[in-house]
Amino acid sequence: MQLIEHSDSPRYVRLHADDNVVVVVNDQGVTEGSRFPDGLTTVEGVPQSHKVALVDIPEGAAVRRYGQIIGYALKDLRQGSWVQETQLAMPSAPPLDSLPMSDAVPAALAPLEGFTFEGFRNADGTVGTRNILGITTTVQCVTGVLDHAVKRIREELLPKYPHVDDVVALTHSYGCGVAINARDAYIPIRTVRNLARNPNLGGEALVIGLGCEKLQAGQVMHENDSSVDLSDPWLYRLQDSSHGFVEMIEQIMELAETRLKKLDQRRRETVPASELILGMQCGGSDAFSGITANPALGFASDLLIRAGATVMFSEVTEVRDAIYMLTSRAQDMDVAQALVREMDWYDQYLERGAADRSANTTPGNKKGGLSNIVEKSLGSIVKSGSSAINAVVGPGERVERKGLIFCATPASDFVCGTLQLAAGMNLHVFTTGRGTPYGLAMAPVVKVSTRTELAERWPDLIDVDAGRIATGRATIEELGWELFHYYLDVASGRKQTWAEQHRLHNDIVLFNPAPVT
Ligand code: CA
Repeated sequence: MQLIEHSDSPRYVRLHADDNVVVVVNDQGVTEGSRFPDGLTTVEGVPQSHKVALVDIPEGAAVRRYGQIIGYALKDLRQGSWVQETQLAMPSAPPLDSLPMSDAVPAALAPLEGFTFEGFRNADGTVGTRNILGITTTVQCVTGVLDHAVKRIREELLPKYPHVDDVVALTHSYGCGVAINARDAYIPIRTVRNLARNPNLGGEALVIGLGCEKLQAGQVMHENDSSVDLSDPWLYRLQDSSHGFVEMIEQIMELAETRLKKLDQRRRETVPASELILGMQCGGSDAFSGITANPALGFASDLLIRAGATVMFSEVTEVRDAIYMLTSRAQDMDVAQALVREMDWYDQYLERGAADRSANTTPGNKKGGLSNIVEKSLGSIVKSGSSAINAVVGPGERVERKGLIFCATPASDFVCGTLQLAAGMNLHVFTTGRGTPYGLAMAPVVKVSTRTELAERWPDLIDVDAGRIATGRATIEELGWELFHYYLDVASGRKQTWAEQHRLHNDIVLFNPAPVT
């Protein structure tokens, strides 16, 4: 990457030698007639993170960023002009039947030895980064009562058990009024089940049901499942109450206390960094996402893979246009085919709704300089670093192996976060350019800003400022290492992220592609 450093003069970032557009770095953008150090002069004002034509681009010619085609000029674009969404025709999505398959598998990098964190070892071999009592649900009907009970548990019981970090209600909108045997119903059902098995719940999750709902407790907690403790009472159904609301609250609190006593016995122990299961995603992206934050995540991801950890990336609609770059990196044909299968499933899912992947890009993305989903995708997949892709898991499925994993989820922040929790994520990292206060109750969320301006404006929400890369104050490598150490500190409980400190928690949002009745 070529960086042009000067704090006040016009600056841009060019990502690849083949690129014919560059991205403006200056906080306030640049005015008409601004001259960059290489002599390029703007013919109109260009906002920060938006693109400038490096050369004259004739109508019909390819516009390249990251060395890839992000669109075709709909009219002649003058050197120094502001290249905008409306001037570009979007390329069509790469056809799935002619992709390069596992033909450029990156060689394994040298192992990184000796890195550890302090975690809670679980009976099933997984490791938690937090010690949380999770109370899951079979149906939305119980949410009001459970929320009331959890508030009282947090206020009255939790202070008695100082080694337990929190109590969390896993409430959701599924469970009844749904076609429970529909073709795609396995997705929300296995998501609810696997959420309760998240390593941060220590195998001690409880279930609150109503009694007459379609989703039964046995589908949420299976017998013969080593990842959950069914030796003690684990279920309470509200319809079993013969005295009403007050009794329900008492029963839930009593049940919760039996698990709090067990969880409170647990202590952190030193475990290898390979026990980390990091989930990565982005939200509120801008044109800097692919220049600063996501490349730093990619570097840190490679470090974690070298340390033997599990790293997940997701967001199908944000990899679809760059899928040819991922199928190439699949470790074998099975993994490449699994990637294609997930893309194909999602293409059909969008088609049923008469939409396509271009529905992903938001007005904020565009204001942040991202012209279309192709440009957004190229910046998004940079998070995955340069390692081979070792496995693919479907939505709501639990990850069962280490390495770099594509976890097929929608890009929606809450749905992606929920599905990564179900996959077994014990730490989450989230990059943002436009800014979001996003957080999750079940796992710490590290928020990384793509621009320094955002980090300065939101100093008590952004944990790591990757904007330093654009201004030349840090390299991608330096920030990657910083993130790697920060992950281990947060995983160990030595540091708390801002979202944790403020208790900023987005809801669990299930992905339910099946009919509601
Ligand atoms: Ca997202």
